[in-house]
Amino acid sequence: MDTVNILGVQVSMLGISESADKIMQMLDEEGTHAVFTPNSEIIMNAYKDESFRALLNRADLLTADGIGLVYASRIVKKPIPERAAGFDIAMEVVRRLPQSGHSLFLFGSKPGTAERAAQILTERNPGLKIAGCRNGYFKPEETDDIIREINDSGADLVFVCLGAPAQENWIDKNRDKLNAHVLMGLGGSLDAVTGDMPRAPEWWCSHGLEWFYRLTKQPKRIFRMMALPKFGFTVLFNGHKFKQD
Ligand code: UDP
Repeated sequence: MDTVNILGVQVSMLGISESADKIMQMLDEEGTHAVFTPNSEIIMNAYKDESFRALLNRADLLTADGIGLVYASRIVKKPIPERAAGFDIAMEVVRRLPQSGHSLFLFGSKPGTAERAAQILTERNPGLKIAGCRNGYFKPEETDDIIREINDSGADLVFVCLGAPAQENWIDKNRDKLNAHVLMGLGGSLDAVTGDMPRAPEWWCSHGLEWFYRLTKQPKRIFRMMALPKFGFTVLFNGHKFKQD
């Protein structure tokens, strides 16, 4: 698969529809696949932390969620054609599930959100099979019960929406115990489905300003967003040191 090495992380160059194709293929393959959707902040964490970098690179697909990664790929001269946001890929996969017959488990976000998201997604995609829902607020000792619940549901695909890097750590640690074929780390996607945290309108996204829109909705994110300029400078000065395949 074609990837671009951004500060040591092998990010896929697939667009939204191609990423969805790949995930549908994984659903029919043996084993449990991990799909992460890193943005600049996550790549910056991985740059600083070797074990987190290795964890990300163990995934089967890392899509470019964020305009920062698209710019970074241009700087290292292996341009990703389009931003492939986790939310957009997830919605494209959900559109295809009624036809393929695979079932979906929604794990994460506040109590009640996954259930509301399930209802909205089934209304929008008649025939969609929801295997189960579970909120993302739990004690570490409840993890085995959650794994049992997901396995008992017979889910083929799990959206893990715990925020980064909790969801990436959870998936990496537990993937061997889960029977689903695909585990996707999707941050606040369920809140976007229910409208609790609406996505930026199209204009903001197409102008690469989704990050700014989110900042106006959640001003506390400013501290997390300080990673963005650092990411830009790091790619500019060190990006070329990473060998492209
Ligand atoms: N969340 C959760 N469990 C926690 C902390 C957070 O399920 O212990 C959920 C939270 O309710 C929200 C999502 O994780 O739905 C994080 O959303 P955010 O947009 O902040 O994701 P990120 O940008 O960190 O990927």
